Amino acid sequence: MARVYNFSAGPSMLPESVLNRAAEEMLDYNGSGQSVMEMSHRSKVYEEILFSARQGFRDVLGVPDRYKVLFMQGGASLQFAAVPLNLLTGSGKADYAVSGQFANKAYQEAKKYGRINLVASSKARNFTEIPALDPRKFTSDADYFYICHNNTIYGTRWPELPETGAVPLVADISSSFLSEPMDVSKFGVMFGGAQKNVAPAGLTVVIVREDLIGRARFDTPSVMNWSVMADNDSMYNTPPCWPIYISKLVLEWIQRLGGLEAMKLHNEHKAKLLYDFIDGSALFSNPVRPDCRSMMNVTFITPSDETNAAFVKQAAAAGFVNLKGHRSVGGMRASIYNAMPIEGVEALVEFMREFERKN
Ligand code: PMP
Repeated sequence: MARVYNFSAGPSMLPESVLNRAAEEMLDYNGSGQSVMEMSHRSKVYEEILFSARQGFRDVLGVPDRYKVLFMQGGASLQFAAVPLNLLTGSGKADYAVSGQFANKAYQEAKKYGRINLVASSKARNFTEIPALDPRKFTSDADYFYICHNNTIYGTRWPELPETGAVPLVADISSSFLSEPMDVSKFGVMFGGAQKNVAPAGLTVVIVREDLIGRARFDTPSVMNWSVMADNDSMYNTPPCWPIYISKLVLEWIQRLGGLEAMKLHNEHKAKLLYDFIDGSALFSNPVRPDCRSMMNVTFITPSDETNAAFVKQAAAAGFVNLKGHRSVGGMRASIYNAMPIEGVEALVEFMREFERKN
């Protein structure tokens, strides 16, 4: 069967060259006579894979020396609890901006551990924009300030990062990870599940400034403790070996294409194709405030649920799969992460144009 264009929000498409390489190496990785899936994580051959993946993140993202790159499990959701467990030990206070469902989940989780201040929320606007911030509401002695950088469900993205002064900025970057250059030094901690832009599900990458390591609550589970993970090269226990290996291949693919600057151009191009078409369409529209639009997740609707459903169904039959919006918002969503080729978006726009003509 021909491969489809997969617009899933995650797990998502991986670059075909990466899949081919993994297939070639499936039975015998680099003359080891084993698949990466079968290797001991303590073996020399696997250690090299993990270390080179870690170096790949450092090189591609330009991670400064004073930051650690940790490989963890439990998804981004585990970090919703790990963040307060690791950081909420100074004043015991933190600021949260709620820009969508995942930011809200993180906020609800953090409330179990300390005094959490909701500095802003765009819930009243159905999360169609990033909330405006009033610095007078910030907690000056907060242990950290939390945002979700790209809101996968609503298709929004922070147009600029909040200015939090000496308070470390913590960001969930699950759905914007490696999509464009990011100035890591602006963050205290950034973390993301790998299953959108980086690798298959099972790996969560945490990039944390060294001075924020070693503050964890005494009762923090070891596998959630950044200090334990850092001291053990992310191998305190068995790491997610296979996703780490694929992330290494994905990072090499990004480097071959010219790094994150090139990724950004590629992603901007795709997003523009889609938004320009939607903006000129009489049938489709995008509900997001234009300056808050995501480059990775493009949401759109037609005036009726029936037409939305018909669109999703016909699109799937034509080889454009997973275009249904998140169950909590309906409509449609095209997730166009790094691995989605420009031809995929061009073909989708053509299909939308044709659908509009017929409807
Ligand atoms: N944060 C964001 C922005 C997400 O998109 C998701 C999942 N789609 C999550 C967190 C939750 O991630 P996980 O399933 O890896 O726990």
